[in-house]
Amino acid sequence: MLPQIAKLSEELEMFRAALEGTIDRVSPVARVQKLDNAKEFDAELHRALAELGVMGLGVPEEHSGGGGHALEQVVALEVLGRKATSMAVFMVVHYMITRLLRENGTAEQKVRYLGPLAAGTIKASFCLTEAGGGTDILAAMKTRAVREGDGWVLSGNKMWISGASTSDIMIVLARTGEHRSRGITMFLVPTRAEGVTAHEVPTFAINGYDTNELALDNVRLPADAVLGEVDRGFSQVVATLNGERMNAAAVAVGIGRGALEVTRQYALERQAFGKALGQFQAVQHQIATAGIAIESAWLLTLEAARSDAEGRPTDVVSSMAKWASAKAAVQCTDTGMEIFAGAGFDTNLPIQRYYRDARLYSFAPLNQNMALNMIGERWLSFPRSF
Ligand SMILES: Cc1cc2nc3c(=O)[nH]c(=O)nc-3n(C[C@H](O)[C@H](O)[C@H](O)COP(=O)(O)OP(=O)(O)OC[C@H]3O[C@@H](n4cnc5c(N)ncnc54)[C@H](O)[C@@H]3O)c2cc1C
Repeated sequence: MLPQIAKLSEELEMFRAALEGTIDRVSPVARVQKLDNAKEFDAELHRALAELGVMGLGVPEEHSGGGGHALEQVVALEVLGRKATSMAVFMVVHYMITRLLRENGTAEQKVRYLGPLAAGTIKASFCLTEAGGGTDILAAMKTRAVREGDGWVLSGNKMWISGASTSDIMIVLARTGEHRSRGITMFLVPTRAEGVTAHEVPTFAINGYDTNELALDNVRLPADAVLGEVDRGFSQVVATLNGERMNAAAVAVGIGRGALEVTRQYALERQAFGKALGQFQAVQHQIATAGIAIESAWLLTLEAARSDAEGRPTDVVSSMAKWASAKAAVQCTDTGMEIFAGAGFDTNLPIQRYYRDARLYSFAPLNQNMALNMIGERWLSFPRSF
């Protein structure tokens, strides 16, 4: 691993080392690459992460979790982004779900779902985006739930949903009222409920985690399927999105660092004009510049996680971390592809995987322009621009 500029506490360093050791043992790079090429989920790594307590980070101890907060989560996600990116993306969704349940669930919902999620015995998906648009989702959302007796009937379609073919439970956002933002509710929906169909969408990256189109056809739900307050689902989700943003930032940092590590190694070995590529100043400068970008992004990500753990506002710093890390990850992977040149096209080598996977966090969970819009409004006090 390249020396990291930010120093972590001894406890976090030990946690990071334990996680790295587990991934190296259960899923070394050759296995990660093989599963990526085969588009397969890494069930063994999933099990090992549950045993190590990674699934339970952020889940209170009374619900069989490991406690902890945002700082432990970003450290775990950076390691996973570096070593097993599809699993890192799975964990971003997992932490979003456990946070939504922790902050909005009834005592019964917490008992029913948090323990099994922390133990890794069930998996969950988060269903917000629709085909009409992810950024302006309030205008695009056509999925609707209407009351029937004590319960609800849910109908509509969702797009680009991670894990919907393989998860057990989903949090689905649906329109329940006419007000643009105060007319949306979160529902807990079993993926095997009648009327739910998920179709995998062919995608070119994050190959170890399924991406789906979801159809909800008159799905009947009991009253206790509502998560949080009726009509307040959007603000409840927005409250957790800062967390998702910093978690996505941590994965992007991992992707960028992973790419730089393999690129540095390649530059030390590959010869041209009688010397290693890494002896050319131009090559050193390319890697150094990308390295500065990724280490700066990590400092912002750690600060966002610290603010979150201490209960300080995170909207500006998490947007900064997300923007900086997504940009740096693209820079690092692009630099890698340039230095690997022809070998960058070899699908047995990880650089092309980092290059493909880095694309996700340029537009998800929030696109780069929207991150800047947020910074313009909340940090620079400009009028809202969208
Ligand atoms: C692999 C993968 C997994 C995903 N997993 C999930 C999931 O589990 N759950 C889920 O709900 N969603 C998921 N998504 C969806 C993802 O969150 C959306 O793709 C994202 O929110 C962007 O929405 P969009 O693709 O509709 O882009 P659009 O909203 O169409 O935006 C396209 C582009 O337009 C520009 N743009 C839009 N609005 C503005 C503005 N106001 N100012 C400036 N520029 C703007 C930006 O450049 C933006 O990237 C996933 C997507 C992928 C590809």
